[in-house]
Amino acid sequence: MGKKVQNRSTKNDPVIQELPLACADEAAAVEFLEKQRWGDHPACPHCGDTSVYQMKDSKTEERQANFRWRCNGCKSQFTVRKGTVFEDSRIPLRHWCYGFWRASTSKKGVSALEIHRHTGISYKSALFLLHRIRFAMSDSAPGPLSGDVEVDETYVGGKPRYKGQSKPGRGTNKQAVMAMVERKGRVRTKVIANVTAKTLSKEIRKNIDPEASRLLTDENQAYRGIGAEFKNGHAAVHHARKEYVRGDVHSNTIEGFFSIVKRGLNGIYHSVSKEHLHRYLSEYEFRYNYRHLEDGDRTVAAIRGADGKRLLYREPVKSA
Ligand SMILES: [Zn+2]
Repeated sequence: MGKKVQNRSTKNDPVIQELPLACADEAAAVEFLEKQRWGDHPACPHCGDTSVYQMKDSKTEERQANFRWRCNGCKSQFTVRKGTVFEDSRIPLRHWCYGFWRASTSKKGVSALEIHRHTGISYKSALFLLHRIRFAMSDSAPGPLSGDVEVDETYVGGKPRYKGQSKPGRGTNKQAVMAMVERKGRVRTKVIANVTAKTLSKEIRKNIDPEASRLLTDENQAYRGIGAEFKNGHAAVHHARKEYVRGDVHSNTIEGFFSIVKRGLNGIYHSVSKEHLHRYLSEYEFRYNYRHLEDGDRTVAAIRGADGKRLLYREPVKSA
């Protein structure tokens, strides 16, 4: 193996070396997903029994073309799809591998059009696949946020009604989004109906531990009331007065995150509908929350996120 050829991202990353084949060959895709989901200990998804075996074709003694397993305990059959976001899909698993890989590693995200072009599945199937993958990526930072937490709100999607207006969100069809970011830590976003003190406070109470945090915002009055509930205080920079940093008080972390989201949404996703926006945001959150991992480990984290979410997925209700 040529030592000079390997670069930093693949040197210690066996997953990245296996992914190209898993994205091209169905049997390799199945084995890859089995290994990532179950490791060396496959177990029956129905009864938990670890006495399971791969079903073989009676004539050829090869593994069955449908890649089924059978459980000695409860006699049921299953595949690696069982219990995941791809359980009820007929899209080949090699394309799921490709989607997980691209969505986990592309800085700005991947579009359904790209998946459609690169895999040959229909555009509609590509959309379905990516929404399921985004769902697998959701809840990437469970539990309350704490420490120094920057909170801000912005508007995404749609087009501004007036060119050059100073408040791009108000009076347009853009959607309000708030984000909460731990300095050097995790991020969480919420699609919100409005940016009133009541709405912002409600989300802050739900997502940040007031006993173990300091709230960092801009001068927006809406944060004043909730700020008083924080044990470590509330500090704000006054952007309107061109104050951006005062000691360690600033909102650089959250502005960095918002700029990644906006660059991605503007560049790749031509029209993100309101009912899907939270899924796109899950994808950005996921990549941010797992930014310290190598590409392969991040891809595996997304695949593991697909576990146990099958029954939780709800197709969005079509907006009128
Ligand atoms: Zn069983």
